[in-house]
Amino acid sequence: MELEAWEGRAELLSPLKGFEREVQVIEYRRDPLTGHITALVKARADYVLKYFRPDLELLEELVASSRRSCPFCPEAIEERTPLFPPDLLPEGRLKVGDCWAIPSLFSHSELNAIVVLGREHFRRLDQMDERLLADGLTAAIEVLRSAKEARPDDLRYGTVIMNYAPTAGASQIHPHMQVLATKEPFNALGELISLSLDYRERNSRCFWEELVELEADRGERLVGRVGNSWWLAPFAPKRRHEVWGLLQGRSDLLGLRRGDVEDLAGGLSRLLRAYHDLGICSFNMAILAGPLGEDISHYFWLQVRICARFGLKKSLLSDFWALPVLLNQDEVFESPESYATRFRPYFRP
Ligand SMILES: [Zn+2]
Repeated sequence: MELEAWEGRAELLSPLKGFEREVQVIEYRRDPLTGHITALVKARADYVLKYFRPDLELLEELVASSRRSCPFCPEAIEERTPLFPPDLLPEGRLKVGDCWAIPSLFSHSELNAIVVLGREHFRRLDQMDERLLADGLTAAIEVLRSAKEARPDDLRYGTVIMNYAPTAGASQIHPHMQVLATKEPFNALGELISLSLDYRERNSRCFWEELVELEADRGERLVGRVGNSWWLAPFAPKRRHEVWGLLQGRSDLLGLRRGDVEDLAGGLSRLLRAYHDLGICSFNMAILAGPLGEDISHYFWLQVRICARFGLKKSLLSDFWALPVLLNQDEVFESPESYATRFRPYFRP
């Protein structure tokens, strides 16, 4: 496996420096599996990083105003949320601990469940404890299992995702996950599975096993290990503060054991604490998994991907602009080696 990086230069006569010539170095990195390029532009760090911290007053206002009409709060959930039809889930809604799994009112895919995470209308990221996330993931997997049994041919690929805060695409403030399942793999997942299979065929090795060996050996991007899961900052992160949690030797969401779910929840909760301490309050998360009910772990490992998004601010600036939206390329402002160092203490046993 080759980790390829190179540098480019931008030059300008900067009015900030009396119109002297300024050289800005841009480091490019290539993802070793997909070949996608990411730019590491450290010069923009101070200019951009302030946008991750939310305007706390604005956030408080939104939390208060959204609580009144929230369908996920305990007093409303049984009155105002839909039920699954009996052939899909006889009990209509599923409850695990304080988490509920219910159908989405407006489906994104053939199966679209919402998993409401607990009774609290709002939680800071350091309040997303391991128990809550494990209950949420368990509810998500149980709904997926039930739906797969009811519609085995329609639901071949499943994911659990999370959007936190409106700047990450969440229309509800109340903490929740979404479960999606469909016939065809999601675009990025399809590409990863196919490239992972090619890698296996060319090299007689599992790319993800090799990646974990390399990162464990080098240590600079490894964030930590929680049970059976490995957490690392990718060599060429696509998004800001992106971290992957790889579940060793597992590919199937429906084949996870209780311990696997707890490992994923444990890693996520540690990472969200680290995000909180950096001033981040908004993120996206997705689980990338192989086909439901099939084991392809000899070439693809189930993985959680998580990245930080801009905080809620009056500036209304989005971090999703033409380069990522239309040219499928993005940039980061801090190297993965640097933020891995900052996240590592949260993963110490
Ligand atoms: Zn609520």
